[in-house]
Amino acid sequence: MAKQETVEHKYVYAFAEGNKDLKELLGGKGANLAEMTNLGLPVPPGFTITTEACKAYLVTGEEPDGLADQIAAHVASLEQAMGKRLGDPEDPLLVSVRSGAKFSMPGMMETVLNVGLNDRSVQGLARQASGADAQTSGGADRFAWDSYRRLIQMFGKTVCEVPGEEFEHALDDAKRAKGTHDDLDLDADDLRGLVDAYKKIFFKHTGREFPQEPREQLDLAIRAVFESWNAERAVLYRRQERIPADLGTAVNVVAMVFGNLGPDSGTGVAFTRDPASGAQGIYGDYLANAQGEDVVAGIRNTVPLQELERLDKKSYDELLGIMARLEGHYKDLCDIEFTIERGKLWMLQTRVGKRTAAAAFVIAGQLVDEGLIDLDEALHRVNGAQLAQLMFPRFRLDHEFQPVAKGIGASPGAASGKVVFTSARAVELAAEGESVILVRRETNPDDLNGMIAAQGILTSRGGKTSHAAVVARGMGKTCVSGADEIEVNVPQRRFVVGGQTVVEGDVVSIDGTTGKVYLGEVPVMPSEVVQYFEGSLDPEHVDNPLVRAVHRIMSHADGRRRLAVRTNADTGADAARARRFGAEGIGLCRTEHMFLGDRRELVERLILARDNTEREAALAALLPLQRADFEEIFREMDGMPVTVRLIDPPLHEFLPPLEQLAVNVAVAQERGEDVAQEEALLAAVRRMHEENPMLGLRGVRLGLVIPGLFAMQVRAIAEAAVTVTRSGAVARPEIMVPLVGAVQELETVRAEAEKIIAEVVGDSGVEVLIGTMIEVPRAALTAGQIAEAAQFFSFGTNDLTQMGWGFSRDDVEGAFFWRYLELGIFGISPFESIDRDGVGRLVRIAAEEGRAARPELKLGVCGEHGGDPESVHFFHEVGLDYVSCSPFRVPVARLEAGRAAVETDGSDSR
Ligand code: PEP
Ligand code: MG
Repeated sequence: MAKQETVEHKYVYAFAEGNKDLKELLGGKGANLAEMTNLGLPVPPGFTITTEACKAYLVTGEEPDGLADQIAAHVASLEQAMGKRLGDPEDPLLVSVRSGAKFSMPGMMETVLNVGLNDRSVQGLARQASGADAQTSGGADRFAWDSYRRLIQMFGKTVCEVPGEEFEHALDDAKRAKGTHDDLDLDADDLRGLVDAYKKIFFKHTGREFPQEPREQLDLAIRAVFESWNAERAVLYRRQERIPADLGTAVNVVAMVFGNLGPDSGTGVAFTRDPASGAQGIYGDYLANAQGEDVVAGIRNTVPLQELERLDKKSYDELLGIMARLEGHYKDLCDIEFTIERGKLWMLQTRVGKRTAAAAFVIAGQLVDEGLIDLDEALHRVNGAQLAQLMFPRFRLDHEFQPVAKGIGASPGAASGKVVFTSARAVELAAEGESVILVRRETNPDDLNGMIAAQGILTSRGGKTSHAAVVARGMGKTCVSGADEIEVNVPQRRFVVGGQTVVEGDVVSIDGTTGKVYLGEVPVMPSEVVQYFEGSLDPEHVDNPLVRAVHRIMSHADGRRRLAVRTNADTGADAARARRFGAEGIGLCRTEHMFLGDRRELVERLILARDNTEREAALAALLPLQRADFEEIFREMDGMPVTVRLIDPPLHEFLPPLEQLAVNVAVAQERGEDVAQEEALLAAVRRMHEENPMLGLRGVRLGLVIPGLFAMQVRAIAEAAVTVTRSGAVARPEIMVPLVGAVQELETVRAEAEKIIAEVVGDSGVEVLIGTMIEVPRAALTAGQIAEAAQFFSFGTNDLTQMGWGFSRDDVEGAFFWRYLELGIFGISPFESIDRDGVGRLVRIAAEEGRAARPELKLGVCGEHGGDPESVHFFHEVGLDYVSCSPFRVPVARLEAGRAAVETDGSDSR
C-alpha cells in the first residue's frame, strides 16, 4: 500500500526533457545534448541518467530503487525512435555509454561504445552496414567485427579492469601475423580472429564469458561509469581543478552513429571561433571514414574542416548553419563534436568552449559588438587571472625546452639572464646593460638594489609570501621561489641542479607563472596589454583586437565598481607606474626601505645611541632624508590620498646578522685591532635578538619604546605635505600606525602625532588623517574601541592571516602547505586568497564594529589579498571603501571590483 503512494524519484531524462541549465543534474554533456535536441538539431536519440543516481550508487554500491525500470522504459522509447532493438540479431540498436559531469573532466572518466553487440548481432550489423550503395559486403563485415572487438576491449578494460595492454598486445600480434603496422590492413577474418583472442583474454581475467546479453552489458557499463567518478585520476584531477568531490557524474546513453562506414562518413571537432586568438572564422578538424576516438587518439592525420566543403558540401553547409545557430543561442564560443554517417550529419556534443586569456577578452568584446551580450555580461566573461596572465612577458616556447627545476610561481612573467649571486654583482652587471637573474637561497631587505637591477629572482627557499615573492610582485618582477632542487652556494658563486653546476655568468630562464627554471636563454616577448596600460599603445588607434577589448572592458569595470583601487608603493617610480595603471591613491607606503642603503649608518647610530643627544642627532639626520622621500611620492600622487605607514619591522633587521658580526669581532680581537665600536654593535645585536621577531618589538611597539622615532616620521610626512602643497600640488597624507592591538597604543601615538601635525601644518590647508592597520586579531575584535581613535582602518591581511592561523609567513608555505592542500584543509594558501570563514570573519567583525562606532570611518585593505581576485570580491561584499595592491595588480583589482559589483549588485542596462 505504502508503495503505491510513493512518487518514484526520476533518475532518467530523455534528451527532450532536459535543457542546458540542468548541468548539475544531467552533467554538462547531457544538458547540452538536451538543449540541442530541443533546438531541433540532429542529435542521435538518447537519455541521461542523473548525477543523483550516481551519488546514490556511490553511497550504497547499488543502483537506487526504480532506476532499472526507468532505464528499461527509456531503452524501449529509444528502440521505438530508431526502429531497431537492442540485441536484435537482424538489425541491432547499438548505444554508447558516456560519462558527463557538471564540470568537464576531459578523459578522466569512462566511455563504452558499441554496447549491444554480441556473437549474433555482429552478423546483423554487418548485413545492415553492407546497405545497397556504399560498402562492399567485405567492408561491412570488417566494420562489424572491428566494432565488436572495440566493444570487448573497452568493456573489458573499463568494466572488468582487464589490463588494457593485453588487448594491445593481441592487436599487435594480429598485425604482425599480417605483416603490417596499420589497423586498416586487418580484414574481417583477421578481426574475427581478434575477437576470439579478446574473448579469451576476457575469460582469463574475469573467469566468465564476455556477456552476450545487451541489457547486462548496458547495466555493467553504466555502473562502471558511476564508479569512474572515484577513479584515482579523476580524484586527482578534481583536486587540482578544485572541482567538488561530491557532484557525481551523469551517464549518457546514446544511439550509436558511425563515422567509419566509408568515404561518405567521417567525424570531426570544431570551434565557432579561434579559441587561441578569438578571431572569427571556422576552426576545426575532420577525419573521413573514422570514429571520434580515432581523432582524439591522433591515429590518423586530420584535415582542416574547410576541406569538408569539397568532400560533402551538403553536410558542410548544414554544419556551418548549426554552428552559427549554437553561437547565437549560447551567446558564446562553442566547441562541438560531430559525425557524418553516410552523408547524414549528427551532433554528438557541444559546450561553451575553453579559450586562452587573450581569446576570452577578444571574444567578449566581439559578442558585445554583435549585440549578443551587453558589457556587464562581457565583464562577467573575463577575469583577473586572465588579465594578469596577459600582463606578463611570455616565453616563446616554440621548441622543446626542458625545465631543470620547478619552484613556486611567486611572481609571474618570463625572464632570462646571467646568473648572479649577490645584489652588488646584479647592480654592476645591469649597469653594463646585461640582463641578470639574481639567485639566492632567500632574499632579505639588503637585496633590494639587486632585485631592482635584476630581470628576475630565483630562490631555493620560501613560499609565495617570502620576502622575495612579496617584493618581486610589488615591482612586477618575475620570481620563482622555493625551487628546492637547486642548491645555492653563494660564497662559491654557483648552484647545482640535477647534477649540473651553474656558475655566475651562465644564462638561465625562469617562468614566474609556472615556476619552471630552464638552463640557457628562452626568447621572450613583451606584453601589449602592459604597453597599453603604460600609455604607449592607444586603444582608439591601434589595430589590435586584444588591446581594444581590454580597454573597453576595463572602462566598463571602472564605471561599475564600488571599491576604489589604490596601490602599495614606496617610491616615486612605483607610485607613477601605479597611477598609469589606474591607482587612485596609495594605500600602503612602507617606510622601512627608507632606512636601508647608505642610511644604515644613521640607523645604527640611532640604535646605539647612549643618550638622548646622540639619538636626537641621528633622528635629526634622518628627518630631511625622509622628508625628501615623501615629497617625491606626494608630488607623484598629486591630489590623491597617500597612506604612509610608520616603521614596522624590528630594528635588528637593520643591523648586521649576529653570527657574522660575532665572527668579525672575534677575528679582529685576535689580531689585536681596536674593536670598541664593533663590540658595542655586537652587544646591541645580542640585546635585540628575538626568538620570534614577527611577534616581538615591531610596529607601534617600536614607536612606544624608542623616543622620537615615530615623531620624526610624522614630522617628515607633515613637512613634506606642506612643502608640496605650497608648491601648488595637493598632498593628502594619511598616517598609519602598524600592529596596533589596543586602542591605548593608538591613542598614545596619536596624541603625540597630533601635536606635531598642528605645529607643522599651521594654516597651510593640509589635512592629515591618522588611522591604524588592523592586522592583529585583538585589534579586529576590539575594533569598536579602536575606531574611537582612528579615522581609517586598513586591514593588514598578511599579518592577520599569520596571527589568525598561527602560521609563520616566512616558513609555512614551503614547509607543509602542500600537505594541507593535499588533504583539502584549504583549497588555496590563505596567504594568497583570504580565508573567508576565519580571517575574513575578523575583517567583517572589525568593519562592522568600526563603522558602528564611527560611521565615516574609511576602510581599506593593504595586505597581499588586495590584489587577489577572489579576495577582492570578498572585500566588496564586506563593504570596504578600497583595496590596495602592488602596482601590477591594480588593473586586476579594478577589473575584479567591477565584476564583483556586477555580480552582487545585479546588472544595469548601461
Ligand atoms: C600586512 O600585514 O598585511 C601588511 C600589509 O603589512 P606587512 O606585509 O608590511 O606586514
Ligand atoms: Mg603587517
